[in-house]
Amino acid sequence: SRIPRIVILGAGYGGIVTALRLQKQLNYNEADVTLVNKHDYHYITTHLHMPAAGTDKPDNARVSITKLIDEFKIDFVKSTAVQIRTQDQKIVLEEGTLSYDYLVIGLGGEPETFGIPGLKEHALNIRSINSVRYIREHIEYQFAKFKREPSRTELLTFIVGGAGFTGIEFVGELADRMPELCKEFDVDPALVKIYNIEAAPTALPGFDPELVEYAMNVLRNKGVTFKIATAIKECTPDGVTLATGEEIKSATVIWTGGVRGNHMLEEAGFETMRGRIKVEDDLRAPGHDNIYVLGDCSIVMSPEGRPYPPTAQISMQQAEVCGHNLISQIRGADLKKFEYKPKGTVASLGRGEAIGIVGSRKIKGGVASAMKKIIDLRYLYIIGGIPLVLKKGRF
Ligand code: FAD
Repeated sequence: SRIPRIVILGAGYGGIVTALRLQKQLNYNEADVTLVNKHDYHYITTHLHMPAAGTDKPDNARVSITKLIDEFKIDFVKSTAVQIRTQDQKIVLEEGTLSYDYLVIGLGGEPETFGIPGLKEHALNIRSINSVRYIREHIEYQFAKFKREPSRTELLTFIVGGAGFTGIEFVGELADRMPELCKEFDVDPALVKIYNIEAAPTALPGFDPELVEYAMNVLRNKGVTFKIATAIKECTPDGVTLATGEEIKSATVIWTGGVRGNHMLEEAGFETMRGRIKVEDDLRAPGHDNIYVLGDCSIVMSPEGRPYPPTAQISMQQAEVCGHNLISQIRGADLKKFEYKPKGTVASLGRGEAIGIVGSRKIKGGVASAMKKIIDLRYLYIIGGIPLVLKKGRF
């Protein structure tokens, strides 16, 4: 009989870890595996807030895909998928099509703007290498422009929408970058303003309140102004209007307030919630016994019946089970149930500062910051071994 074809869409956390697992465990001629990704590199999303603020180089947040996978075992196709056709088991790419017997969807998320007018058009998003290079250049350009038009102090106001993990980690870096930019462009630091605006009643909703308080104090001391329990009502090229009626003028709005699944899932006819597929226990899409869905494209429910927040951590754990289940399915063996085992969460607050929960322990300050580095290095080790740790690791 014919060798089954596995197509993996997206080489993010979910896709790359699935590919590595298959590469290691499939026997010769047991399946053909094709990995499809928009770019020829994998990006380390959890690191993107740094190059976005300009505190690190974009190159440190990406790895060439062919350095991670063995091309004699896995075919890599650099292309953008445009349509998933479950009816004839085909993927339409920008150039050509691919047929599959088994599909893994790991296309990641897209910004969710909750229909707030103007956000889609005027706000920037921290999502990819391209987007963070743009944000970094945009921020520097505002300083250069201000020197030509010194009455326009709003050019030095930076608004971050959303005080979840991404928003908090980004304002920490941004605040760290400001003194350097002020020096470079001869700008009085007192003119710079950073706002972090959040609609929920607290920053980092769901996180330990004592640590949230600590984080906000660290960031306030670095110059961040919080507006919590304050919704953004509209975004324009000139700034934002808040639900309170207040207007904040700014040429830079960075939206981190929400993530939804890839738009292709809805278009393919899957049942979705905010663009995500609520997967079965074995990570397959309901009604499709040959389609696995991972990471930001999927919803996994906790035992309490609430969706887990989409993270790199859960994506990687899903990928391990997905790889296992694909191999079992091909061999006619039983599939495993996915159970999320949270290992802890650490959010960085800029240089030398972080907060986190590891096991049941609360950590903060330098200890948490060191832990964050260990988590990042561990990931590099998982996907690329010691050589990658030495090449891309930040110690
Ligand atoms: P992704 O990692 O997003 O990968 C999707 C891949 O699909 C990408 O390579 C993309 O190029 C590709 N792709 C997309 N569309 C197409 C297409 N049409 N055709 C072909 N390829 C396509 N999580 C944590 O656990 N810890 C953290 O500390 C943390 N920090 C974060 C900090 C920031 C700034 C951000 C933005 C996120 C952070 N997250 C963190 C969340 C985490 O990054 C995501 O949950 C995770 O990346 C989701 O993994 P994924 O495999 O679903 O998709």
